[in-house]
Amino acid sequence: MPRLFYCPKCGDKNIDGYRLRRGRFVGHPRDGWGRPISFYRCEKCGNVLAGSMDVTDWDERGIDYASSIIRGYNEGGTYYYKPFHDYCLEHLGSEEKK
Ligand SMILES: [Zn+2]
Repeated sequence: MPRLFYCPKCGDKNIDGYRLRRGRFVGHPRDGWGRPISFYRCEKCGNVLAGSMDVTDWDERGIDYASSIIRGYNEGGTYYYKPFHDYCLEHLGSEEKK
């Protein structure tokens, strides 16, 4: 089951079969519409709004679509919601680099 892992902040993008590579995540049901996103802390830049989505049966255009949805939940995006960002920070850790 291929999953997209995408961080809009630094552009890190991978597709692999793991639910999540490692660590914790915050699930987001997207109000039951579309495929859910799991937010995780980007290993490269620390962004806690990096997102992962199941992209089974999706071609490149589908993956671009998934990326744009994840981008929408990041700062400046259509679905960005500060309290959710704070919730992710609380659960996934600080965005400061170590
Ligand atoms: Zn990143």
